[in-house]
Amino acid sequence: MPEFVLAAVAWPYGNAEIHAGNLAGAYLPADIFARYHRLKGNHMLMVSGTDSHGTPITVRAEAENLSPEEVYQRYHKGFLELFQKLGLTYDLFTSTHTENHYKVSQSMFLALLKNGFMYKEKQPQWYSPAQDRFLPDRYVEGTCYICGFNNARSDQCDQCGSLLDPAQLVNPRSKIDGSTPEMRETEHFFLDLGGLQEDIVEFLKSRESYWRPNVLRQSLGQIQTEGLRGRPITRDLDWGIPVPVEGWDGKCLYVWFEAVIGYLSATIEWGTLHDQPDAWRQWWKQKDAKTLYFIGKDNIPFHAIIWPAELAGAGLEFDQIFGCEEKGEFVLPYDVPANEFLNLEGKKISGSRNWAVFGLDVLTRYDPDPLRYYLTSVMPESRDTDWDWDEFYHRNNDELVATWGNLANRVLAFAYKNWEGVVPDPGDLTADDQALLGQVEKGFETVGSELEAVHLRAALGEAMRLASEVNKYLDTAAPWFTIKTDKAQAGRSIYVAMKAIDSLKILFAPFLPFTSEKLHKFLGYKDQLFGEQFTRNIQDSVGEHSALLYDPAKAAGRWQPSDLKPGQRFEQPAPLFKKLDESIVQEERGRLG
Ligand SMILES: [Zn+2]
Repeated sequence: MPEFVLAAVAWPYGNAEIHAGNLAGAYLPADIFARYHRLKGNHMLMVSGTDSHGTPITVRAEAENLSPEEVYQRYHKGFLELFQKLGLTYDLFTSTHTENHYKVSQSMFLALLKNGFMYKEKQPQWYSPAQDRFLPDRYVEGTCYICGFNNARSDQCDQCGSLLDPAQLVNPRSKIDGSTPEMRETEHFFLDLGGLQEDIVEFLKSRESYWRPNVLRQSLGQIQTEGLRGRPITRDLDWGIPVPVEGWDGKCLYVWFEAVIGYLSATIEWGTLHDQPDAWRQWWKQKDAKTLYFIGKDNIPFHAIIWPAELAGAGLEFDQIFGCEEKGEFVLPYDVPANEFLNLEGKKISGSRNWAVFGLDVLTRYDPDPLRYYLTSVMPESRDTDWDWDEFYHRNNDELVATWGNLANRVLAFAYKNWEGVVPDPGDLTADDQALLGQVEKGFETVGSELEAVHLRAALGEAMRLASEVNKYLDTAAPWFTIKTDKAQAGRSIYVAMKAIDSLKILFAPFLPFTSEKLHKFLGYKDQLFGEQFTRNIQDSVGEHSALLYDPAKAAGRWQPSDLKPGQRFEQPAPLFKKLDESIVQEERGRLG
C-alpha cells in the first residue's frame, strides 16, 4: 500500500541568499528523500515557501527605501531559480504572504484561542512618541550597558555578544529617525505552552526509539530543565498577518508562530491548485501519514515543541473554524531529522561576510549533480562538517568520475561500438554474473532502508560501494580482452554490467537526478524518470506571488532492479561528469572573504 509522506522543508527567510550550508542542512536532504519516495510509488508531497514577514525584512526595506514586499520578492525569485537549477523538486514552493496562508494561520490562532491555549498579558515595549508607534527591538539602538559598545541593538550587543534587556539600554534611539523612544506597556497574546506540556512530553517520548539523539536531547532537555512557559505570539508591527480579533489593529502574528503553519497552508494551497481542496487531509489528518521536517539544528524547538503544541492545541476546532465538513485530529511530526551545521574551509559560514558558497553563483561554474554529490557526502547528519574545496575536487574526480561516471561510459561506449547499439544476448549466466546482479539487486533494500531512515550519506555510500563492485567484476571478466577471442563471453559480461548499471542508475537517481535521467536515455528508454518543474503566477487579495510546482507523474514505482532485455536498442553515450582541474581549488578559495 502506498504511504502518504510529507516532506516539510524549512522556509528560507526572504532577506538573504541561499548558501551551501542551507542546502546541505535542509533543502537537498528533503529533495533526495522526496525523489526516493516518488520512485517507490508513495504519495509524496514536498512543500515549503519563502518566509516573508517579520522585522528583518522591514528593517532592510526601510534601509533600502523599498516596500517589504519588494524585498522578499527579490529573494523569492532567486530561490525559485536556484531550486529549478539544482533540481529541488518542491511540489509547491510558495510564500507566507498569501491569502491562503493568512486564512489558515488565523484559523489556527482562533482554534487555539477557543480551546483555551491563548492568554493575554502586558509587556513593556519601545514606543516612539515622534512616530506614534511601537518599535520592535531591532528598530532601537543604543549603548550596551555591559561593554559600552555604542551601536548595540536593543535586544543584543554585537560587540560583546550579550543578549540584552531592552529596558536597560543606555541612550536609546530609533533607527528610523534617531528620535528617543520610551518604554510603554503593550498587550500581547501568549501561546500557553505550559498547558500543553504533558501532550508534548508524551509525543516526544513516543518518538524516542528512532529520532536523532540530538533532536530528542535538545527538546526533552529544555522541557526537563526549564519546563514550558507561555510565549508571546503577537507583535506591534503592520507587516504580517493581522491578529483576527477585534480591537487588535496594528498588531500581527509573530513570524515564528505563523511560519511553521506554512507547512499546513502550503499543503492546502497545493490541493487547491490541483482542484483537490480536501486532499491535504490525507497528509495531515490520517493517522498513518508520515510528516517529516527537514530543518537545521537551530530550528529544533520550533519543530519539536512549538509546532506540535500548536497542532495538538488546535485539534478538531481547526476544522470547525476553517469550514471543513470532516473533523479529525492533526498528525504530529513523524520525524524531525534536523541536521547540524556545515562550515566552510574550517570556519563558520557567513553570508554577509562573503564566507559562503552561494547556490546560484556556484551553479554558474559546476553542474548540479557534482554539487549534489558533494553536498550529500558532507551532510552534517550527526555532527558539524566542513565544505573543503580540495575535498570537492577529489570527490568529483576520484569517486564521481572514476568510480561511477567512467563505469557507465566505458561499458556503454564499448557495447555501442561492438554490438552496434543493441544490448547483447548473454546466453546462460555464470555464478559470478548472478552473484554480481544479486548484490546490486539487494541494493534496492540496503540503499532504500538508509534513505527511509534519512541516513543519506550512508545511502549514497552504499550505492557507490555497489558501483565499485561492478568495477571489480569487470576487472576480472575483462571483456575488452576476451572479445578478441570469445565475443559471446565478452557479450555476456557486458550484458551483466549494463544491467547492473541500469539498476545503479535508479539507486543513484535521488542523489544525481540529472545524470541518471541522461543515462536512462542513453540506455534506450523513451520515457523519463522524473517529472517537470514549472512556475505559476498567482494573484489574490493579499498580493501576487510566483509559485514553483512539480508534475511528478513519471517517477512512480521505479524503485526496482533493472529488467534490461537483450536486443534493446540504445544510444551512443557521452560522459556523465567532467573531470575537474586542480586549479579550481585555489580559484575557489580566492573567491572567499
Ligand atoms: Zn556589549
